[in-house]
Amino acid sequence: MKTMLSKYAGTCAACSRPIAKGDLIAWSRASGAQHPKCAGVYLPQSPQDVRAPCWICGDPSGKFRPHGAATPVHCDKCHAARPPVNGSRWTPDFSDTTYEDQCAAACGFGL
Ligand SMILES: [Zn+2]
Ligand SMILES: [Zn+2]
Repeated sequence: MKTMLSKYAGTCAACSRPIAKGDLIAWSRASGAQHPKCAGVYLPQSPQDVRAPCWICGDPSGKFRPHGAATPVHCDKCHAARPPVNGSRWTPDFSDTTYEDQCAAACGFGL
């Protein structure tokens, strides 16, 4: 389960209520997109202030990092080790977003 900002308007897999583009969601391939609350993830703050588990090391102090259209959640340590898109060492995870884009085109985001 990843915490991210929705790239598409969709429907919550848990409560069937709408998810707007840009909303905070909890997402996994198995469960689809869900409201963080529906997935049991407590996110009381604005997206900029959210702390979520780092995608790389799982540190709970991870924050959203703007990398173009993606918003990976990294802790300060991993963020420092992987600078922004224009940095020389950052390598986007294309396999992940490619899957999402294909799925969204094929069946709609979250299904
Ligand atoms: Zn929901
Ligand atoms: Zn980390």
